[in-house]
Amino acid sequence: MKHNDQMKENKTQVRDVILRTVKTQKLLSAGIVITVVGAIIAALIPPLILAEIVDTITEGNGAPLFLILSYFGMIVITGMTESAREGLLTVFGQKITHALRSSMMKKFISLTADNINRQEPGTVVSRFVGDVDTVENLFSSGIISMFADACKILSILFVIWFENRGLTLVLLILLPFLFGFTRHVQKNMLTAQIENRKAVGRASGHVPETLHNIRTIHCLGKENYMEKRYDQYIGESYRAMERTNFYDAVYSPVILILNAVVVAVVMLLSASGNSQILRSFGMSAGTAVAVINYISQIFGPVESLGMEIQTIQSAMAGIHRINEFFKQEEKKETYQAVRIPETDIPVEFKDVTFGYDENVVLDHVKFQVREGEQVTLAGRTGAGKSTILKLLLGLYEPQDGEVLVRGIPAAQIQAQDRRTIFGYVEQSFHMVPGTVKDQITLYDEGITDEQVREVIGLVGLKEAVEGLENGVDTWCTAELFSQGQWQLLSVARAAVAGPAILLLDEITANLDAETEQNVLMALKKVSKDRTVISISHRMTASMGRTIFIS
Ligand code: ATP
Ligand code: MG
Repeated sequence: MKHNDQMKENKTQVRDVILRTVKTQKLLSAGIVITVVGAIIAALIPPLILAEIVDTITEGNGAPLFLILSYFGMIVITGMTESAREGLLTVFGQKITHALRSSMMKKFISLTADNINRQEPGTVVSRFVGDVDTVENLFSSGIISMFADACKILSILFVIWFENRGLTLVLLILLPFLFGFTRHVQKNMLTAQIENRKAVGRASGHVPETLHNIRTIHCLGKENYMEKRYDQYIGESYRAMERTNFYDAVYSPVILILNAVVVAVVMLLSASGNSQILRSFGMSAGTAVAVINYISQIFGPVESLGMEIQTIQSAMAGIHRINEFFKQEEKKETYQAVRIPETDIPVEFKDVTFGYDENVVLDHVKFQVREGEQVTLAGRTGAGKSTILKLLLGLYEPQDGEVLVRGIPAAQIQAQDRRTIFGYVEQSFHMVPGTVKDQITLYDEGITDEQVREVIGLVGLKEAVEGLENGVDTWCTAELFSQGQWQLLSVARAAVAGPAILLLDEITANLDAETEQNVLMALKKVSKDRTVISISHRMTASMGRTIFIS
């Protein structure tokens, strides 16, 4: 069963997240459908009322108060439904963003260690931020607005068809050209905007780069060169911006003039005496007013359609990249809980061969570590010492041979058991957001305050912690402790759950001799009655039997 869930999870796609959101947000989805349709219908009515008003007046009757009130009433209702639609779409877009980011985070933390290692921080951030934003835009200003705009254009054409057939034909011929022109302008503007952004990026990167290398620049007399480069970047940005401004300046007048020309032509035709023409273009004064109103309403949606297509295109690219992210391999957490057998050989490498890619790092490595034994792994840099610890922690699996911890493959040890089996200390301390206590417990609520107090005493940090404003509950910042003290905290973190095996990776490499002695002393206390596998370059820090890794 659990296995099945895992398989399903592996196939998560943006589409599933969206469908799930639609299902859980039934009211919101219904609200969107109602306001989209409502806004289209509501926008069609005011011009028709206006036509009635004008016709009543031109027939010599007084202005009908009821019609005038309903005209304004309908305009208010149109505005209200449109803003309700926009509001609901925005909320829906945010729900999608939330659901997507949660699913992506769930995916991210279940990636294999190898996969996480390969992630470029910048790329991950742009998946979570940029690409998710494009999907949000797809809803807040893309696909649904596009549907609404297309419906609006069609319904206006439909209504005009009954009022003035000739005009419908004129519009049917004109609209594709208008759309083509709009897209042309929008594409050029987008290109110019992207160029501008790149140029601005280069220009702003140039300043810190110059400052960073200022001595070299002065030394080599490269001031003019740097200045020219800067000039070139801001020149590029300026030219790109000019193009954006040009298109921006041209578009609106063209649309306004086109609007006026269509109105003028239709009015002229409807006023012509030719009965042939009048059959298609003839209309009352009231209808003329309504038609003018509709014409000005139809240009807006055409312009929006262009932008919406743009939004949908970039959302498609974003969805593709997020789906790629979802496709990555996950950790297998499907193993049955295994009973960890009692054995006096806690760690054994049985002919282990392992490489990260094709390059073999460990080639048929074999060794055993007995209960309570303290061994040091030695070997040249890059020999694979740290890799051995990573294999023991189950972060990677060997390509050949077996990595056994108490007789069972290391990767099969369940996450919740790992902390009582292993304590792992790295070369440098990685602070987690939180208090001193959080640094030690790593938010594990199963660890008692008593255990925390004890381990702090054991590593010799009692006085330092007591000297803090709120003791173990002091919020951690990088300056709170010295490097040696951080490293002691690291030992405390590894030892607090009372692990049977300690894995230490060059934990004193960054420390001066005196601090190193302190850390080693703390370590000695912590190592008592434990199996310890340590890596060290310095003979002073090595313990027990030495195993050479070549
Ligand atoms: P040092 O003494 O310098 O710490 P080491 O013996 O601990 O060296 P490892 O860190 O185990 O060496 O690395 C062994 C080899 O594996 C190196 O060539 C390294 O480039 C490579 N390697 C380590 N981690 C990865 C990784 N995540 N992806 C790909 N290759 C890696
Ligand atoms: Mg190493």
